[in-house]
Amino acid sequence: MKRDVLLKKVLMDCPLCDRVHEVEERLRTASMVIKDEEVDYEEHFFFCGNADEEENEFESGAMTNANLLNARNAYRRKMGLLTSDEIIEIRESYSLSQVDLSRLLGWGEATIARYESKAIQDEAYDTMLRLIKDNPLKALEFLKKNSEKFSAGKRYEIREKMIEKLDSYGKEFLTRQALEGEYVGFEEPSDANGYTALNIDKIEVAVSYLARAMSNLYKVKLMKSLWYADALHYKQTGRAMTGLVYRHEAMGALPVGHYSLMNLENLNVKEEMSFSYDSMLHVYPSEQADYSLLSKTEREALDAVIDKFKDYKASEIVEYMHEERAYKETENGEIIPFRLAGEIREL
Ligand SMILES: [Zn+2]
Repeated sequence: MKRDVLLKKVLMDCPLCDRVHEVEERLRTASMVIKDEEVDYEEHFFFCGNADEEENEFESGAMTNANLLNARNAYRRKMGLLTSDEIIEIRESYSLSQVDLSRLLGWGEATIARYESKAIQDEAYDTMLRLIKDNPLKALEFLKKNSEKFSAGKRYEIREKMIEKLDSYGKEFLTRQALEGEYVGFEEPSDANGYTALNIDKIEVAVSYLARAMSNLYKVKLMKSLWYADALHYKQTGRAMTGLVYRHEAMGALPVGHYSLMNLENLNVKEEMSFSYDSMLHVYPSEQADYSLLSKTEREALDAVIDKFKDYKASEIVEYMHEERAYKETENGEIIPFRLAGEIREL
């Protein structure tokens, strides 16, 4: 256990020594076992300097509750579940009460109140909450499905809020929806997506990372570079990076939904005149790209692709890909499985 830290001194009627004096509010890292998992969390407590060593600490009721909430949230973070604050954030983004959000999702009325205070949600409930997070279209679907749980007036009020949120997302949201729509059949981890679910944030930042280092990045070269980065990352870690699914096409690997991909609002793509073999969509880095979204292994895969293909023309990277087993052993239009993609030659 780590050493504790003094936060402040509080004058109070001390329950340990029965005197009014300044007790110390302290903070330390404690650990607790929750559902068979040991988790570390921040624990607040009071310390009395007058009491003997065996019993010189105590907690107020509010402190105990806050400590337990910290411990449960540490468990949630460890297990990849939404924290209580994130649940509150989702609910407030739709201006819903705890009861209304519970009703919207078809749950018991007290469910959300419990998740925001003391209970830890099951994975199935967590998944449903994530479905409506940043997705007002999904939220509208739930409203339709559970409409009988609301009065007509309430239903109208909630629908207005959801539509308002939908409008505020604007073009960015719609372009993401378009690409997600193309991946409806590829939601499960499989050999087709390299055991990785479609991750649009990752795609956007990977594209920008490549564009930052390759000044001649047009659509065809980008598509091949993404495939090589995914293939290499799969080869090295057993998982692809972006969740894109690639088909065998005449010009090499082409991701499912490539038109939607090029339309993503956060990509910096300009249509330019070009006399080459290449498409005229020129890809530039995006100003707002957050490269910290890339893990160390993802950066390494992208760097290797950049080092290898930086000066390749589109036609050259296409020819290079034509020699891969993944290309030779698949037919036109067929999905290129990652078990073959993982066999790429050394870059
Ligand atoms: Zn005391």
